[in-house]
Amino acid sequence: MQLYRETHAERIAKSDQNGMISSVLSVSAPLDVERIRADFPILQRKVNGRRLIYLDNAATTQKPRQVIDALVDFYTTTNANVHRGVHTLSVESTDAYEAARERIGRFIGADRPEEIVFVRNTTEALNLVAVSWGRANLQPGDEILATTLEHHSNLVPWQRVAQETGARIRLIRLTLDGTVDLDDYRRLLSPRTRVVAVAHASNVLGTISDLGTISEMAHKVGAIVVADGAQSVPNVPTDVRTLGPDFLAFSGHKMLGPTGIGGLWGRLELLEEMPPFLGGGGMIREVFEDRATWAPLPEKFDAGTPNIADAIALGVAIDYLDDLGMSNVRAHEVEVAGYALERLASIPDVTVYGPSDPRVRTGVVSFNLEGVHPHDAGTVLDEAGIAVRAGHHCCQPLHRVLDVAATLRASFYVYNSADEVDALVDALATARRLYQRKTA
Ligand code: PMP
Repeated sequence: MQLYRETHAERIAKSDQNGMISSVLSVSAPLDVERIRADFPILQRKVNGRRLIYLDNAATTQKPRQVIDALVDFYTTTNANVHRGVHTLSVESTDAYEAARERIGRFIGADRPEEIVFVRNTTEALNLVAVSWGRANLQPGDEILATTLEHHSNLVPWQRVAQETGARIRLIRLTLDGTVDLDDYRRLLSPRTRVVAVAHASNVLGTISDLGTISEMAHKVGAIVVADGAQSVPNVPTDVRTLGPDFLAFSGHKMLGPTGIGGLWGRLELLEEMPPFLGGGGMIREVFEDRATWAPLPEKFDAGTPNIADAIALGVAIDYLDDLGMSNVRAHEVEVAGYALERLASIPDVTVYGPSDPRVRTGVVSFNLEGVHPHDAGTVLDEAGIAVRAGHHCCQPLHRVLDVAATLRASFYVYNSADEVDALVDALATARRLYQRKTA
């Protein structure tokens, strides 16, 4: 099957035709990469005796000194539980935790901080919606539309709630360049549709979904839109009010923040109507022998002691991104990914998945090297100090459509540079030589 891939010849023909790649390369550098790199201690280390070239940012990003310091500072000076104490440390800790919620809300265009629920990660955010909203609202005959490019975390929770409630899942096809096929979406949408689960950006193809149109169409039939922002919030300036979904999930660790903290933004009226996800301390108003009533938002979704330090450090990560400017972050990503797409096209046996225009994709570039298993290529790259990911990237339905078991994925962020792309291409050429010799 030849879907969603372009051969070397096709890519060259396209770039010659519209001059797109050369025009992208002529954009002046939007970020001072050398200055940024100095903030990331891990980038000083060596791997297998070589300078670390970290191109696995779609899996998780590295952390700047400011974020690491925020964690150390919290535990050194402020550590106390939130919301439950009248002592000074508890008040300071609560203030910093709630300030982080506000900070995160502003970053994605939320109207109010109560619209932000702290979660561990995107996966937990999406499970929260599927369980809390889904169990309360879905019934037999209802339909959940998900796209073929969903990460398992925006598919499996819906499969589980569908099995419980008798609802049915249907997958929306993709166009040849790997975006959500709006015609197929229109065909599947009906008054039975209750949920549309869609990744704002694909973690394999890098494609960016037209969330505005998708949301508008869903709302016309009375469905809610649950957007997975794991790969878009870190890179693409995001405003939930203009994009129009009903929920947006994201992970702090993919945007310079710590692991174990993420966010779920939801429309206030939906969050207010939904039953809590977890029960326990912190989320109640009153508890009786046989029942309880719930605290107002955001505490209703904050059962147990939350991840206070990491939430505060995520606020600092967001400050860091804001200082860089999200439009500069995006422009840098387009530039580096564009250069990578151009350089990869110079290796004859490389198949790149997704569109060749870096302006319609994020900094995620998945590809295969003919005749070399992605894990073997990944090992050769590791020997050169280059970290990429090899596998199905938690997108098995998409890989089935691509007709490959696995791909190699290089993903770029604010500290990556053109010379790191050159090193990647050189190491791939080595992998090709080594494995071609082996199989010859
Ligand atoms: N959705 C997408 C598009 C992702 O790329 C990822 C992470 N690979 C996730 C969801 C899940 O994120 P997390 O592991 O932080 O829950």
